[in-house]
Amino acid sequence: MPGIDDLPIRDELRGKSPYGAPQLDVPVRLNTNENPYPLPEPLVRRIGERVTEAARELNRYPDRDAVELRTELAAYLTRTTGHAVERAQVWAANGSNEIIQQLLQAFGGPGRTAIGFEPSYSMHALISRGTGTGWISGPRTEDFTIDVDASAAAIAERKPDVVFVCSPNNPTGTAVEAETVLALYEAAQAAKPSLVVIDEAYGEFSHRPSLLPLIEGRPNLVVSRTMSKAFGAAGLRLGYLAADAAVVDAVQLVRLPYHLSAVTQATALAALEHTDTLLGYVEQLKTERDRLVAELRATGLEVTESDANFVQFGRFDDAHAAWQALLDRGVLVRDNGVPGRLRVTAGTPDENDAFLDAVRDLMKELNR
Ligand code: PMP
Repeated sequence: MPGIDDLPIRDELRGKSPYGAPQLDVPVRLNTNENPYPLPEPLVRRIGERVTEAARELNRYPDRDAVELRTELAAYLTRTTGHAVERAQVWAANGSNEIIQQLLQAFGGPGRTAIGFEPSYSMHALISRGTGTGWISGPRTEDFTIDVDASAAAIAERKPDVVFVCSPNNPTGTAVEAETVLALYEAAQAAKPSLVVIDEAYGEFSHRPSLLPLIEGRPNLVVSRTMSKAFGAAGLRLGYLAADAAVVDAVQLVRLPYHLSAVTQATALAALEHTDTLLGYVEQLKTERDRLVAELRATGLEVTESDANFVQFGRFDDAHAAWQALLDRGVLVRDNGVPGRLRVTAGTPDENDAFLDAVRDLMKELNR
């Protein structure tokens, strides 16, 4: 049977595995940082209305520039961050993964490099590879924060074209201070200058304010966001960025024409009408996240401070065995390959109770 390696595929893709969190059928799934709450019924009905309207015009291509949606996203950012953002500064795509891909297509590519501070979101490296962008793995400290001096030195030495800063960081939950972003931005401008992308996929869950106001007066700073987490709409596939309007012009050079379907735009607009209800769920999840941190610590585990809707915990002598032991108890968490550690997404109170029971049971077994 011929395999991938028998194909005339690009050399850098040979022997590689696709992104793949296991999608297993178990009672408690807390492995992909999804929002556990289904969309509220009034919103589901509103989506039906909006999509019906859009369906009447599906013979036509959608609004290529997603004007109405970008206007509403700009209003949402302005209202929730307190920093005035205009439509021309916002761009939307099919998930923030596509936002990242478009940024790398425009600012990375063959002969160029991107840097991230690892462990961090693995797709930054994978999308870099997919776009022919060289990947540089930058450092992180023992406690998973960014060491400003070491990171600025790495930027000065390697001169990457794109710098990824994930805040709150996946999989550790660590938020990045504004001063750190500013120091890295300065280093990146002195070295190249390069584009600095703050991945705020989990921004709404943070104890701290958004880093978005930092885009003011910094034309090479981009903040990327998503409706997959706080809006509870991972199935929608809607990500967006805010930056100087010139960055939006730049990604339009690489985006596919009509990339955002009329159905997607209609659904996202309906969800934005229900922002207040959805952000109410975010508050509940933050409380549950803080409870997970406290209760995991009470079992004697080492828990990384979290500003996201997930928590990194350990240390296990064998993290993969611990992952399997939790799975055997009906709870699916994530092994991100961080030595000794696992990651759990904050679910509903019942799901979190089931997870905590499984952990206590496992700890008893391990301490025996
Ligand atoms: N950034 C980070 C840090 C993430 O964890 C994720 C999803 N796991 C994404 C971006 C991509 O999310 P989406 O494409 O669903 O917007």
